[in-house]
This record gives sequence, structure tokens and C-alpha cells, in this order.
Amino acid sequence: MAETGTKKRKGLDLQWKILIGIVLGIALGLFINVTYGPGVESGPIYIIKIIFKYGGDIFIRLLRMLIIPLVFASIFMAIVNLGDVRALGKLGGKTVGFYFLTTALAVAAGLLVVNLFNPGLGIDKEALSALGIGTEVPGKVGNAGVGEKSPVIIIIDTFVNMIPKNAAAAFASGNILQVIFFTIFLAIMASIVGKASDTMTSAIHGLDRIMQAGIMAIMKIAPYAIFMLVTAIFMDLGFAALAALGKYALTVLVGLAIHAFITLTALVWILGKYNPIKLFKAVAPALMTAWSTASSAATLPITMSNLTERAGVDPKISNFVLPLGATVNMDGTALYESVAVIFIAQLLGIDLTFGMQIVIFITASLAAIGAAAIPGAGLVTMGIVLTAVGLPLDGIGLILAIDRILDQFRTAINVWGDACAAVVIARTEDAITEPESGTPGLESAAA
Ligand code: ASP
Repeated sequence: MAETGTKKRKGLDLQWKILIGIVLGIALGLFINVTYGPGVESGPIYIIKIIFKYGGDIFIRLLRMLIIPLVFASIFMAIVNLGDVRALGKLGGKTVGFYFLTTALAVAAGLLVVNLFNPGLGIDKEALSALGIGTEVPGKVGNAGVGEKSPVIIIIDTFVNMIPKNAAAAFASGNILQVIFFTIFLAIMASIVGKASDTMTSAIHGLDRIMQAGIMAIMKIAPYAIFMLVTAIFMDLGFAALAALGKYALTVLVGLAIHAFITLTALVWILGKYNPIKLFKAVAPALMTAWSTASSAATLPITMSNLTERAGVDPKISNFVLPLGATVNMDGTALYESVAVIFIAQLLGIDLTFGMQIVIFITASLAAIGAAAIPGAGLVTMGIVLTAVGLPLDGIGLILAIDRILDQFRTAINVWGDACAAVVIARTEDAITEPESGTPGLESAAA
């Protein structure tokens, strides 16, 4: 992976360009929002919004286009390079164990802040109902029927459903977990077959290289596309809802900050023996893309590229750990769900006992594992947690209005959690070289 474009180039590094895109997008979006009001549905402003939405959509589609071939080729090569099946078993066990640990720590942080801040108490309910908050339930929640499933079934389902009934269908429908399972199986069989699989292995190696080059190419438009995406989001942001639910939003953000800056940072520092600031700089493009797109799946190609090209993690580790993490390890989502459910309970005047909070602790962790890595997925699986403690699904309507903006933050933390895991796991495998100093990296992804 590290072979593509390791030359230093002139000009601003990628993360700065993206940051400028975000800042300008926020400024322009807010300006339009304040001047013309949110949700303009006609006229020139509407046309601008549509053009910007398409601009952002093209970028997200290009990234998503790469996911399946990238995940397939990079996991295959990671496993072939690992050597033997026992090494893979050990790596898999460590990865899943670490993911469970960080998800649990995230929920614990969520429960801590929500019990300290009590955002649902003393909220202006009249302001909420004046805004129509609390009436809509996202259709997907009912359709998915997640509310009826028990947590145990959800987790068993997630693992059993990893086995595709039809490998081609798994690729065609873009089911990442199933593609991962099939690819692991294929790679193990390739190593059993030995020499006879050499031609195929070298073809997949070629595909892997081509996909890396594809990421580099797409990253060139990232700052501009992100500018468009962010402008369109801020043009539509409802400030009245944000103000009414401000204490709740703040509680989520404080919880996410504790998890990101204290818990995960400490794990990177202590277990990963890696400077967290350097890691942060290395994966900044991925974090900002996650924040802008609210999709860890769409961000995955960039996360993989940043970890190997800029953070010095051996691709044989990160190419296995990251695709799995993007789909099952969602610290931000887990934390968010625990805060949201308790907020809803407080708002409805329902007292949650300690036992119920334990149920939330478990179900929020599982719901996050089951959530898809796409925008708004956490909101859908929240039905699991609400049902587990006997709260009405309608509660989701209460927080719907500001979900997108919070989704952006929790997705960034989901990706940060994956990046931290890749570093810690790579350290235990002695498969990481921390860049010397300054901005990590090989500005290979920069335009
Ligand atoms: N949007 C999140 C992600 O892609 C999932 C969620 O809705 O919490 O990671």
C-alpha cells in the first residue's frame, strides 16, 4: 500500500485543505441560513442547495464505489501476508475483544454524562411541541422491526448473518460483513492450496494497488466536495430545534469528547505506545470526511489509506482491523444511543432504575454493533434500546430534528475508535512504525 506516491509535494497538506472546505462551508451555509431561513424549497438558493448536494453526493458515491473491491483485495492480501491461520485467529480475537472493550467504555462515558447533566429534566416542553418535535417517528424504525428483537438475538443475528447465502449477492448488495467473511474464507483456502493460488493472489495484489491509487485520485476532490456537503447541511440546519434541544446536544458532545480525548487517547498512549497527537494528525482527513459525510462506510477507504500511508501501520493489520471496525465498532453510536434513551426517558418523566441503566448499557453496545455504517443508522437501531427498557418508539421523534448534526460527530468518533484500535492492535503485533516528527506522513494523499 505504501508504494503509491510517497513523494513530498508542494502546497497545503490535505487535512488543511479539507479543514478550509469545512470552515468555508459552515460560513456560507450559515450565511444563507440566516439570510433566507432554513429549508428553502424554490428559487436560486434552492438551486444552489441542489447543486451542492449533488456535488457532495458524487464524492460519497465515488468513495462507496471503492469499498467492496477495496475491502475484498485488502483483506485478502492482509491474510495472505499474515501467513498462517493461527495468526489470523489471534488477530481476530484481539480485535473483537478490543472493540467490545472500547464500546463498553463509550457507553459508560455516555451514562456518566447523562446522569450528571440530566438534559431531559427542566427542558422547555412547550418550545419542543411548538416546533412539532416529538410527533414523527422515522418510518425505518417500524419497518426494520428492530424494536421486537431481543438483544441476544440481535448479536447472534449479526454473527450468523455474516455468512453469505450467496457470495455473489453479498458483493452485489455491498454487504461488507459478508464480504469480509467470504474473503477471509477465500484467503485461508488460498493458503491451503499454496502454489496453485499464486496467479490469483498476484491478480488480487494488483487490484489492491489499483484501489489505493483510486483513493488517492478521489481524495483530490475531497476538500471541494466536503465544502459543498457542509454548505448544504448548514443551509438547512434548524436552529430553533438545536436551541430547544441544546442541553441534550451538549451532553452528547461532552460524552463523545470524554471518550475520544481521554479514554481512546489513553489507550493509544498506554497500550499503543503511540503519540495520540501524531495519530490525530495522521487520520485528520478521515475524521473530517467522517464528520462531513456521517458515514463510516463511505470514509473507510480514506481511513485505511491514512492509517497505512500517514500513521505507519502495517497494512496487514489495518486492512483487517479497519473494515471490521467500520461495520461493528461504533463507539460514538453506542454512547449516543445511551444518552438519547435516557434523555427520552427523562423527558417523558420516566424514572430509570439502576437495573434499567444496566439494560441500556448492554443493549446500547449491541445496538451499535448492529448499526449500519451509514447516516442515521444509529437512530434506527435505537429502537432496540428503547424497547428493552419499555419506552415508546415515538421517543425517537423527540431527537430526530437534530440527529444529522449529532450523527456527524458520533461518526467521527466511530472512525477515531477504529483508528485507535488499529494502532493498539498493530503495536501488539509489532507491526507499526511511528513517523518521526511533524505532520505524519507522506503527503501522498494530498492534492
Ligand atoms: N452514521 C454512523 C456511522 O456511519 C452510524 C450512526 O448512525 O450512528 O458510523
